[in-house]
Amino acid sequence: MLPVIALVGRPNVGKSTLFNQLTRSRDALVADYPGLTRDRKYGEANLEGRTFVVIDTGGISGEEEGIDSHMAGQSLQAIEEADAVLFMVDAREGLNAADEALAAHLRQRNKQFHLVVNKIDGIDETLALSDFYRLGIDSMFGIAASHGRGVRSMIGQVLAAF
Ligand code: GDP
Ligand code: MG
Repeated sequence: MLPVIALVGRPNVGKSTLFNQLTRSRDALVADYPGLTRDRKYGEANLEGRTFVVIDTGGISGEEEGIDSHMAGQSLQAIEEADAVLFMVDAREGLNAADEALAAHLRQRNKQFHLVVNKIDGIDETLALSDFYRLGIDSMFGIAASHGRGVRSMIGQVLAAF
């Protein structure tokens, strides 16, 4: 089985941009990948000499009340299906309540997850990351998905565990 990486986070943080960046060399969607349902978007990616499956999700709106409604069902499912979760946040927006709710959910799962601070292009990376320290997530990456910056190195480190 290929390692499965799920992209989760609020709408507009850049999940689909990263998905496209990771899968662009392989445009075939893995619709029939065993064990995975089809209401999410699955892609096969090839990076750093590794092949893996990426799951894009619609994200959580942050406008609902409570963790269950914060998380679209598909995001919860994607987390369950994944070997590793990339929890994406927006460096320009900073930390918000929906991010905190998702972090709390991820901490309850027995699953490897990483905080991905996206959109660090044109801003101070160290400063951008420091805004998210209080989530208490040790594994953090700063990337610019739309430019591909930091993506290869992040994937290499995430996949090193598999
Ligand atoms: P999603 O809702 O999480 O899937 O987010 P999208 O991938 O649709 O991206 C939302 C917006 O953020 C789009 O306008 C993207 O072009 C923009 N975006 C994504 N990644 C980056 C990035 O690394 N830097 C900048 N500046 N904008 C980005
Ligand atoms: Mg999207």
